[in-house]
Amino acid sequence: MTQDGFLGTIREAFPAHALDPEAIIEHSCPECADVAETFGGLTWPELSAEAIDSHFQSLPLLSPAAFQQFLPAFMARACERGDDPTGVNDVLEFTVYALLPNHVDEWWLGHVATLTEAQAMVVLRFIDHAQETSGDYFGKPPVEALEYWRGRVTGRRTTGIWTPPSREK
Ligand SMILES: [Zn+2]
Repeated sequence: MTQDGFLGTIREAFPAHALDPEAIIEHSCPECADVAETFGGLTWPELSAEAIDSHFQSLPLLSPAAFQQFLPAFMARACERGDDPTGVNDVLEFTVYALLPNHVDEWWLGHVATLTEAQAMVVLRFIDHAQETSGDYFGKPPVEALEYWRGRVTGRRTTGIWTPPSREK
Protein backbone atom coordinates (compact mmCIF):
# COMPACT_ATOMS: atom_id res chain seq x y z
CA MET A 1 0.00 0.00 0.00
CA THR A 2 1.20 3.50 -0.64
CA GLN A 3 1.60 5.75 2.35
CA ASP A 4 -0.57 8.53 0.87
CA GLY A 5 -3.31 6.02 0.10
CA PHE A 6 -3.27 4.72 3.63
CA LEU A 7 -3.26 8.21 5.18
CA GLY A 8 -6.22 9.16 2.98
CA THR A 9 -8.08 6.05 4.15
CA ILE A 10 -7.35 6.91 7.78
CA ARG A 11 -8.67 10.46 7.31
CA GLU A 12 -11.88 9.19 5.70
CA ALA A 13 -12.54 6.58 8.38
CA PHE A 14 -11.76 8.63 11.50
CA PRO A 15 -13.68 11.88 12.01
CA ALA A 16 -11.74 14.52 13.93
CA HIS A 17 -13.24 16.00 17.06
CA ALA A 18 -11.68 17.43 20.18
CA LEU A 19 -12.25 16.12 23.71
CA ASP A 20 -11.98 18.00 26.99
CA PRO A 21 -8.88 17.08 29.04
CA GLU A 22 -11.03 15.30 31.66
CA ALA A 23 -12.53 13.04 28.95
CA ILE A 24 -9.07 11.93 27.78
CA ILE A 25 -8.02 9.76 30.70
CA GLU A 26 -9.49 7.23 33.14
CA HIS A 27 -6.98 7.48 35.95
CA SER A 28 -5.54 10.13 38.23
CA CYS A 29 -1.73 10.25 38.39
CA PRO A 30 0.99 12.60 37.05
CA GLU A 31 1.52 10.54 33.89
CA CYS A 32 -2.19 10.50 33.01
CA ALA A 33 -2.48 14.22 33.88
CA ASP A 34 0.32 14.92 31.39
CA VAL A 35 -1.53 12.93 28.73
CA ALA A 36 -4.76 14.84 29.42
CA GLU A 37 -2.94 18.15 29.16
CA THR A 38 -1.17 17.17 25.91
CA PHE A 39 -4.17 15.60 24.11
CA GLY A 40 -7.01 17.69 25.57
CA GLY A 41 -8.74 20.14 23.26
CA LEU A 42 -7.06 18.76 20.14
CA THR A 43 -8.41 16.69 17.28
CA TRP A 44 -6.28 13.79 16.06
CA PRO A 45 -4.91 15.62 12.99
CA GLU A 46 -3.87 18.49 15.28
CA LEU A 47 -1.76 16.29 17.55
CA SER A 48 1.87 17.09 16.67
CA ALA A 49 4.45 14.52 15.63
CA GLU A 50 6.50 15.55 18.69
CA ALA A 51 3.55 14.97 21.02
CA ILE A 52 3.03 11.46 19.58
CA ASP A 53 6.73 10.62 19.62
CA SER A 54 7.05 11.62 23.27
CA HIS A 55 3.86 9.69 24.19
CA PHE A 56 4.46 6.54 22.16
CA GLN A 57 3.41 4.41 25.15
CA SER A 58 0.31 6.42 26.05
CA LEU A 59 -2.48 4.74 24.01
CA PRO A 60 -3.37 2.37 26.90
CA LEU A 61 -3.86 5.36 29.21
CA LEU A 62 -6.60 6.87 27.03
CA SER A 63 -10.32 6.58 27.75
CA PRO A 64 -12.32 4.66 25.11
CA ALA A 65 -13.45 7.93 23.48
CA ALA A 66 -9.90 9.29 23.41
CA PHE A 67 -8.50 5.98 22.16
CA GLN A 68 -10.94 6.07 19.25
CA GLN A 69 -10.03 9.71 18.52
CA PHE A 70 -6.23 9.46 18.70
CA LEU A 71 -5.56 5.94 17.41
CA PRO A 72 -5.46 7.23 13.79
CA ALA A 73 -2.80 9.80 14.74
CA PHE A 74 -0.61 7.02 16.15
CA MET A 75 -1.14 4.74 13.14
CA ALA A 76 -0.34 7.57 10.72
CA ARG A 77 2.77 8.63 12.65
CA ALA A 78 3.98 5.02 12.92
CA CYS A 79 3.79 4.64 9.12
CA GLU A 80 5.31 8.05 8.44
CA ARG A 81 8.40 7.59 10.63
CA GLY A 82 10.06 4.43 9.35
CA ASP A 83 13.31 5.88 10.70
CA ASP A 84 14.71 2.66 12.09
CA PRO A 85 16.63 0.21 9.89
CA THR A 86 14.57 -2.65 11.35
CA GLY A 87 11.42 -0.96 10.01
CA VAL A 88 10.14 -0.67 13.57
CA ASN A 89 9.95 2.64 15.42
CA ASP A 90 8.66 2.98 18.99
CA VAL A 91 5.33 4.48 17.86
CA LEU A 92 4.74 1.54 15.52
CA GLU A 93 5.80 -0.97 18.15
CA PHE A 94 3.57 0.30 20.95
CA THR A 95 0.61 0.95 18.65
CA VAL A 96 0.81 -2.69 17.55
CA TYR A 97 0.88 -3.75 21.23
CA ALA A 98 -2.21 -1.62 21.92
CA LEU A 99 -4.05 -3.23 19.00
CA LEU A 100 -2.86 -6.80 19.51
CA PRO A 101 -2.81 -7.56 23.23
CA ASN A 102 -1.84 -11.07 24.25
CA HIS A 103 -5.28 -11.59 25.73
CA VAL A 104 -8.60 -10.09 24.77
CA ASP A 105 -10.28 -8.88 27.94
CA GLU A 106 -13.22 -6.68 28.87
CA TRP A 107 -11.09 -3.58 29.38
CA TRP A 108 -9.56 -3.87 25.91
CA LEU A 109 -12.91 -4.63 24.28
CA GLY A 110 -14.29 -1.49 25.94
CA HIS A 111 -11.71 0.52 23.99
CA VAL A 112 -12.10 -1.09 20.57
CA ALA A 113 -15.76 -2.20 20.43
CA THR A 114 -17.04 1.26 19.46
CA LEU A 115 -14.78 1.48 16.41
CA THR A 116 -16.79 1.29 13.19
CA GLU A 117 -16.31 -1.46 10.62
CA ALA A 118 -14.47 1.01 8.36
CA GLN A 119 -12.17 1.89 11.26
CA ALA A 120 -11.57 -1.79 12.04
CA MET A 121 -10.61 -2.27 8.39
CA VAL A 122 -8.01 0.49 8.76
CA VAL A 123 -6.69 -1.26 11.88
CA LEU A 124 -6.29 -4.49 9.90
CA ARG A 125 -4.45 -2.64 7.15
CA PHE A 126 -2.18 -1.06 9.74
CA ILE A 127 -1.44 -4.46 11.33
CA ASP A 128 -0.70 -5.82 7.87
CA HIS A 129 1.62 -2.88 7.16
CA ALA A 130 3.41 -3.40 10.49
CA GLN A 131 3.97 -7.05 9.68
CA GLU A 132 5.23 -6.25 6.17
CA THR A 133 7.77 -3.72 7.36
CA SER A 134 8.94 -5.49 10.53
CA GLY A 135 9.64 -9.01 9.29
CA ASP A 136 9.96 -11.30 12.32
CA TYR A 137 10.23 -8.47 14.83
CA PHE A 138 6.89 -9.15 16.54
CA GLY A 139 7.13 -12.92 16.38
CA LYS A 140 3.90 -14.84 16.39
CA PRO A 141 0.93 -12.44 16.49
CA PRO A 142 -1.63 -12.96 19.27
CA VAL A 143 -4.31 -15.06 17.57
CA GLU A 144 -7.21 -14.00 19.81
CA ALA A 145 -6.84 -10.28 19.07
CA LEU A 146 -6.17 -10.85 15.37
CA GLU A 147 -9.31 -12.98 15.13
CA TYR A 148 -11.23 -10.19 16.85
CA TRP A 149 -10.20 -7.69 14.15
CA ARG A 150 -10.92 -10.14 11.37
CA GLY A 151 -14.33 -10.80 12.89
CA ARG A 152 -15.10 -7.08 12.79
CA VAL A 153 -14.78 -6.97 9.02
CA THR A 154 -16.48 -10.25 8.09
CA GLY A 155 -17.29 -10.41 4.45
CA ARG A 156 -14.58 -7.92 3.50
CA ARG A 157 -11.44 -8.86 1.66
CA THR A 158 -8.77 -9.62 4.22
CA THR A 159 -6.23 -11.42 2.03
CA GLY A 160 -2.73 -10.30 2.73
CA ILE A 161 -3.59 -9.63 6.35
CA TRP A 162 -1.12 -11.13 8.77
CA THR A 163 -1.66 -14.89 8.89
CA PRO A 164 -0.98 -16.44 12.29
CA PRO A 165 1.76 -19.05 11.69
CA SER A 166 -0.14 -21.64 13.76
CA ARG A 167 -3.03 -21.52 11.34
CA GLU A 168 -1.03 -21.91 8.14
CA LYS A 169 -1.92 -25.03 6.25
ZN1 LIG B 1 -2.41 7.12 35.54
